[in-house]
Amino acid sequence: MKIHLFISFIFIFSLSACGENAVASKDEIQNQPDRPNILFILTDDQGYADVGFNGSTDLKTPSLDALASNGTVFSSAYVVHPFCGPSRAGLMTGRYPHKFGSQFNLPSVKDSGGLGLPTDESYISEVLQDAGYYTGIIGKWHLGEMPEHHPNQRGFDEFYGFLFGGHSYFPEQYQKKYKDAKVRGLDYAIWQYLAPMQHNGKEVKETEYVTDALSREASTFITQASQKNEPFFLFLSYNAPHTPLEAKEDDMALFPHIKDEKRKTYAGMVYAVDRGINDIVKTLKKTGQYDNTLIVFMSDNGDRTDQGASNYPLKEGKNSVQEGGYRTPMFMHWPVGIKAGGLYKHPVSALDLFPTFANLAGATIAPNKQLDGKDILTAVKTGVSARAGEPLYVMVHRGDHTNVAARQDNLKVIRTRNEPWRLYDVELDPAEDNDLSHLHPDLVREMVSKMSVWSWSHTQPDWFYNHEHAAQWRVNGMPRFDETFKLK
Ligand code: CA
Repeated sequence: MKIHLFISFIFIFSLSACGENAVASKDEIQNQPDRPNILFILTDDQGYADVGFNGSTDLKTPSLDALASNGTVFSSAYVVHPFCGPSRAGLMTGRYPHKFGSQFNLPSVKDSGGLGLPTDESYISEVLQDAGYYTGIIGKWHLGEMPEHHPNQRGFDEFYGFLFGGHSYFPEQYQKKYKDAKVRGLDYAIWQYLAPMQHNGKEVKETEYVTDALSREASTFITQASQKNEPFFLFLSYNAPHTPLEAKEDDMALFPHIKDEKRKTYAGMVYAVDRGINDIVKTLKKTGQYDNTLIVFMSDNGDRTDQGASNYPLKEGKNSVQEGGYRTPMFMHWPVGIKAGGLYKHPVSALDLFPTFANLAGATIAPNKQLDGKDILTAVKTGVSARAGEPLYVMVHRGDHTNVAARQDNLKVIRTRNEPWRLYDVELDPAEDNDLSHLHPDLVREMVSKMSVWSWSHTQPDWFYNHEHAAQWRVNGMPRFDETFKLK
């Protein structure tokens, strides 16, 4: 009974918290003259240390660094999950993906028959489109391939890119392999990374290196958008520098000092993104959109150090609940709205983008929409924490156990492989070297207790990555939260 009441309380509280976001009528909103454009740039598997503005010494990201230094850098920005699908589900919905069954990467259509995020989970793109924004996504989707999950059905006026989790980069190579497989009647076995790009559901024959193609399409979108009366929302979703490691020779030639071939290729891939950003900034200036465009940059998860990346000084990388897995590079740039030269050290989440963007747009959020993040703009402007005393969570299910962590203010409690809980001051000790759990068992208990309550809101996964994975879940009686949240 007590548990029931507590859940009701949380539900009511979250509804009322969301209610704060509901503002003016649609007509009033659309007549506001100064609503900013929003350009959200997401890279795929880019490490925390793989941008100049976070201290990289061997890679070159001059365009990103210039935007970062003319805006505010976030040194404790977290995504919702340390790999692609659930991270993006959290970004788009503003909710932890565990709450609506999206805690794993989607299997391909040929393995699943076609699955995707529940269509009753509203996306930020739908909210902004309803508020009169001209909306576009360019690049990787990874939220479902069936018609009802298509970006054009989920709030995007324009889509250029591909629906699945990644893509090969050189058209002359991937198009040949795709064609050869088709000719041999191997449709069922064609690797998705070779499939043609599409524009609003129609296949197109791309001729450029994929990163260059996506940057080109972003400039085209901005140019078209600048001729409209309404502001735009563009989600530029680069698949770079996600594998396969494929870079242009000219880009790699800029890194003669890097001897490791994977690192050199990775450096070239990141540089290609940066070249594209340079072109996009030029387009924003040429079309008069630069000053009133909020640019947000982040990566969808930490990167694989076995594939040329660096998350230094953070430990581990993609798939991990240690900092290297889900703390990512991030900045906001907005000449008329965000301080230049700013550094924001308090924890922020990809979950915060939904309410932040919605409020900037003066959008109305449905009263029954639940959100797990918060509008952080005022906190960023004033330099105070947006969530003092409130934790951010991360949870990854493995075969027979669950890895979890919670960051609250400067502290982080973490448990992996059902080993003892650890506690770190990740502001002073971002590398998670000095376990403080023996000094503060009370704090560990409090944070684990909050995390345990949070887990009550989770549902069973709607899908698993493959059949073996699904069988493991059943055989091992997962999620086994009784084990996960044991204190000892
Ligand atoms: Ca990723």
